[in-house]
Order: sequence, then structure tokens, then C-alpha cells
Amino acid sequence: MKRLLYATLAFALAAMAISAFAQDKHDIEITPLNDHIYKLSYDGGGYTVKVIASVGDDGVLLVDAGQKQAAEELKAALTSIRDEPPRIIISTHSHVEHVGGNDAFGGAPLIIGHRNIRTTLRSGIYLFDEFSDQVLPDITFDDSLSIHFNGEEIKIMAFPGAHSNDDVLVWFTGSKIACVGALCNGFDFPSVDSKGDVTKYAEITGRVIEALPDDAMVIPGHGQDCTMDDFRAFHDMLVRTGEIVRQELDRGKDASALQQEKVLSEWESFGGSYTTTDRWIKYLAEGFTGKDTRPTAYEPMYYAIRDIGAVAAVDHYFSLRVTQPETYRFTDNDIVFIAYKLYKNDRVEESLPFFERAVVEYPDGMYAELCFSYLGEAYYAAGDTTRALSNYRKVLELNPDNTDAAEIVDKLGGK
Ligand SMILES: [Zn+2]
Repeated sequence: MKRLLYATLAFALAAMAISAFAQDKHDIEITPLNDHIYKLSYDGGGYTVKVIASVGDDGVLLVDAGQKQAAEELKAALTSIRDEPPRIIISTHSHVEHVGGNDAFGGAPLIIGHRNIRTTLRSGIYLFDEFSDQVLPDITFDDSLSIHFNGEEIKIMAFPGAHSNDDVLVWFTGSKIACVGALCNGFDFPSVDSKGDVTKYAEITGRVIEALPDDAMVIPGHGQDCTMDDFRAFHDMLVRTGEIVRQELDRGKDASALQQEKVLSEWESFGGSYTTTDRWIKYLAEGFTGKDTRPTAYEPMYYAIRDIGAVAAVDHYFSLRVTQPETYRFTDNDIVFIAYKLYKNDRVEESLPFFERAVVEYPDGMYAELCFSYLGEAYYAAGDTTRALSNYRKVLELNPDNTDAAEIVDKLGGK
């Protein structure tokens, strides 16, 4: 339950152009895909993270580099295949579980990605990741380019505008392996971030399919690996679910009515991962009824925390909501997301006023349990057992099945 909650948060964050969920330990599995291409994969916290490595006479080339928090383990796993740093890393898009490991090898690898990655990683909530310049692509493009490496042409083609605004396809022409990032999500509904557009997903993936031969092996960034037939089924799902939701909206219904009527029950099996069927309906409905183009308040909040400190910044956030409702797009999860980002980037103390305020403002919010859980963890680590205990008790009030919290409450001698 706790894991699922965290995965949901990670993908709620992904849906806003960020996503990061870190576990303490990552068991990286290495699967050879042919004589020189390997898949390195691990559980990133409710979803699979994949890194593809081409290893040969020209050296090592990676497609994506996984999460920042798993970078050392990824390095060790790569070393077991070939003891030299990668020469090239291609980023499929800007999300943190694809670019987070980019600087693990120092400045040595040449990083290649869509032009928009550089601006995205230097704006909005990404500011909280404090990525070094080494994470940003050295070579950018917005159309296509080819690399001749380890005996084959690797074509990189831009398909932005569906999942995010910087997605690319990496096509190993000799190996017939297509790293599609989030342009295909296997047998699961995809997610869409604030710079992507769910209404363009079907058209854009349709063009990706046209660019690939029938015998290509399709490797999505997260979902299960698949064949071109599976990719076409994914595309067909996008087309048909989009048509149904659009028709129903035209009849005057809203997203919650469509969820209640289970209008996408035929595609229920696609809802088994981080984007549930209800969430997919919501993405589509929001897409068709017009996108809110106002920026979020993450950027001003990042600078507010820096300039006036976290405690005053929380107040500043709520005054922005009152004074500038037209300027920014606010949601009730904003301060949870900020707290989570601070926490995960080792700014635990600054995260606390945000978590504390979130549980006061939104006691029934979808992330209340998670907030109490992080508060408990932080106070426990700081040796404040009284506060740790009271927060873990709140976790249990909200979710008696949270075994992690129950264990700690037991251990701290409370009941
Ligand atoms: Zn993504």
C-alpha cells in the first residue's frame, strides 16, 4: 500500500513534468538483447526503470541513465559488462528517472537529447533537483540525427508533444531495437506531463510506428517490452479511448460521470500500472476540454525558499493563491510536491514546514498519509521520538494496513 502510494505520487509528479521516486536499494538485472546490446533494469518504486547499453569496439553508449539515486548501482552493473565509462548517453526525454544518472560518470560522456530538455531541466519544479550542468545534453536537436557506433547506424528522431515536449525515438537499425521512451508504454496507459498533450498521443505514436519495420523489438522506458503488434494495440487503445471520451464529453458529460459509467471498461487491463483507467479518463477529459496554460508556482516558490526560508515561504505560497489566482495554476498537491522534492534532495529540514502545513490544510487529501509518513521518518531520524510517534500514529489512523508505520509504532513503545 505504501509503495503504491509513493508510486502514485511519483507519477503525479511525472504528469507535471517531473517524477522521482527513490528506493534505498536497487537490484539491477542485466539482460542481453543480442550480441552487443544489454538491458539494465530495476524497480524504481512501483515502476520499472530501464537503461539500454550498446557495448562494442567503439566503447559504451547508453540510452537513458536511470535515477540519480540509483546511479552508483548502475555504474557497478555496467562495470560488470565493460569496465569503462560510456562515451555517449542519449536521453529519451527530460523526466528525472531517465536523466538523473547522467552525471554519474563525470563530464566524460557526450549527452545527446532534444533541444527542449535543457530549458525544461532549468525551470519549474526541476529547479529543486539541483541538476549540475553535466546532466544537460551537450548536443541537442529537434529533428533527427544519426550516430554510427558499434557497427550500426543509430537513428534518433524527435517526436515531442505527446508524453512531454522532448521525447525522442532511438532506433538501432542493425539490431532492430527501438528504444521508445514513453512513446509506447507496453500494455499500460501512459502518463502525460504539463508540457505534453494527451490529444496528440495517438497521432504522434502513429508516426513512430510508421518509422519502424514490422520486426522491430520495442523497448518502452517503463512498460513491458513488446512487438510491433503490441505497439499497434497500444496505439489502437489511444485512438479508441480518445474517440469514446471525446464523444461522451460532446454529449455534455464530465470526467467523473465517465469514470462512474466505466466507459473505458474494454481497456481496463491497461490500468494496472501508475495510470489507472480513471486517471486516463481524467487525462483525456482535461486534454479535450482545453489545457490550462498558466505556469505553476514552483519557480517563484523555489526562489522564495532560497530568499526568505522555508517557514516564510509556506505562508508566501498561500498568499500567492489569494493574490495571484490568475497568474499561476494552483493545485492542492503543490506544497506536497515541493515538500517531497526537498525531502528527496536532502533538504529534509526545509521540507518539514511544507509537510506540516499540507496535513493541516488538506487533512483528507490523497497524500495525507504520505505526508505523515515522511514527517514520522524525518523526526525519527532526528531522534525526536515523540513527534515521530505521533506522526506514525496518524499514518495508522488513516491506513491501519500500513505495516511499516505499525512496526515503528511498536518499536517506539507506543500503541
Ligand atoms: Zn516520462
